[in-house]
Amino acid sequence: MFDSIKKRFTAVETEELAAHPAGKADISREKSAELYAKAKTYFPGGVNSPVRAFKSVYGTPLFIQKGDGCHIWDADGNQFIDFCCSWGPLILGHNNPKVREKVTETIQNGMSFGAPTALENELAELILKHNKYLQKLRFVSSGTEAVMSAIRLARGYTKRDKILKFEGCYHGHVDSLLVKAGSGLVTFGETSSAGIPKSFADETIVVPLNDREALKLAFEEFKDQIAAVIIEPVPANNGLLLQEKEFLQFLREICTVNKALLIFDEVISGFRLGFEGAAGYYQISPDMVTYGKIIGGGLPVGAYGASAEIMSNISPEGTVYQAGTLSGNPVAMSAGIAQLSELAKSGFYKELNAKAAEFADSIQRYAMAKSYKLKVFHIGSIFWFAFTDKESIKRADEIDPASMEKFKIFHRELLNRGVYIGPSGYEVGFISSAHTKIDLEKAKRTIFESLDFVFRSK
Ligand SMILES: *Cc1c(COP(=O)(O)O)cnc(C)c1O
Repeated sequence: MFDSIKKRFTAVETEELAAHPAGKADISREKSAELYAKAKTYFPGGVNSPVRAFKSVYGTPLFIQKGDGCHIWDADGNQFIDFCCSWGPLILGHNNPKVREKVTETIQNGMSFGAPTALENELAELILKHNKYLQKLRFVSSGTEAVMSAIRLARGYTKRDKILKFEGCYHGHVDSLLVKAGSGLVTFGETSSAGIPKSFADETIVVPLNDREALKLAFEEFKDQIAAVIIEPVPANNGLLLQEKEFLQFLREICTVNKALLIFDEVISGFRLGFEGAAGYYQISPDMVTYGKIIGGGLPVGAYGASAEIMSNISPEGTVYQAGTLSGNPVAMSAGIAQLSELAKSGFYKELNAKAAEFADSIQRYAMAKSYKLKVFHIGSIFWFAFTDKESIKRADEIDPASMEKFKIFHRELLNRGVYIGPSGYEVGFISSAHTKIDLEKAKRTIFESLDFVFRSK
């Protein structure tokens, strides 16, 4: 059996596998492996977005053939309960009939016009009607684009250049935000990607999350220079680093005092924690908000919004330029309208969040009963498995990189038993309304078995 497993892995992984043999025979990945080999001849690393390459877990990526409800099927016909949900957008699960029908209906009339359509109004109305923090929006085509545009607007509006971000928050692949902390409490960022001029990174200040002193210092050192502070109010791209309301409140105040704009990057938390996202959850009023993921119902949509006054600085009304050939695309708008219409129904979030809390809590109870070093952090329908015994993790540097070894084994054991989660221990999981109680019960059993294996194999 081991030989056939070996064929599906690289030499280095084979060595690792020998040290950590699987608890359950590996699923067949022959078709996926073939597709991946082909893909590597077309795309760098064989993928069009890096995390998909399975670099942090065993094996090679599964090529997905279809999804329905909470299930996905790969090219080899393996079926999984999916907790990746396309990294968050699919809050109604895969292939939701309402979304599919609305998209199909729109497509009958053409794909794109590069001229306004009523559908843009319809989606904007749905969003603004349910959100007291925003007056106007602009639709774009991805979360990255939303953030990039929001930053430009903040700079244009305040006539300042510097942006402050937090270590451990991800805001898409925006040049000036692909920046990590240097040494020292308040630092100019160092680029975290090649290809970004140092002069760009010099406009970005990076501080740790949950650190009031660092924020105070930054505002002292760069007095009247900071255009905006950007934060994921629910940091969910580097583990789930839940912040205290008091810290976010402090952030709001220090921005106000220093006339810097506070940008909530709600690309994940927007429409996940309700229509008002984390702003509504914590009752904190940001100056600008960015959206992506759920807003497009599985199609490429992003948006940024603010008060009418701030938004009036965007072209054609104002002097900050921002445009898009496919912005407000009717097919994408339709998917967003159909999905958000479901979310707007009374009781939607209450039911979803209750299911998710029950799921996370019962896994936590199991781990505690067995004295496993595992914490299941969760908020709304987002969860994160952290192989730690810390009661809380609020900063990126509180995550122990060594804990990722356990995650790797866990991930492999889950896949072999039919549960799909994102292929990195730094990624969160998502529960959709399509995950029934029975699906979650099945998933839990699989998770328990996999945890037993992880902690038995040391
Ligand atoms: C996913 C994400 C982005 C980037 O969105 P893309 O659509 O991948 O460009 C930005 N910010 C946050 C908080 C995200 O989670």
